Amino acid sequence: MKQNYCKYCKRKLIKVGNFHRCKYCDTFCYKCGNIVKKEAGFCIYCLESFEVRKLSWFQKVILFYISFLMLASNIHQDIIKGVSSGGIFGMLGSFLAYVAFFYLIMYLYNRFIHPKINVKSKNLLLSWQIIRYIITSLIVLWFLIAVFGLIFIK
Ligand SMILES: [Zn+2]
Ligand SMILES: [Zn+2]
Repeated sequence: MKQNYCKYCKRKLIKVGNFHRCKYCDTFCYKCGNIVKKEAGFCIYCLESFEVRKLSWFQKVILFYISFLMLASNIHQDIIKGVSSGGIFGMLGSFLAYVAFFYLIMYLYNRFIHPKINVKSKNLLLSWQIIRYIITSLIVLWFLIAVFGLIFIK
């Protein structure tokens, strides 16, 4: 019989490659399943890098919001000035530059700052969670108002 529960924390094991690993107790490579040392920065078996951390959902929301604002303000300026052929490319260029810039900041934060901040306080984590939900709902609300405004005011 296969052992499907962690012997330390009794939680369900996940199958990675040919191995069964505990997400909470084992330090393993998510690609091949071998036990690894995180400090190495990459898996010595399959060379998968551990360094790249994905953006959290909240960072995606902020990124989306900033991109939309940049795009909207650029379009607005172009409408005032009158759209030229160069204007579209300029707009697209600056829009991409802004997105790339904020993406880079978030990436650097995830890679260098986030691992160093080890927040243990439950209250702090909880309030941060609540703040994220509030900001997200405000953005969604603002977005809805903006979209409805564009449709109905014209
Ligand atoms: Zn465990
Ligand atoms: Zn690996």
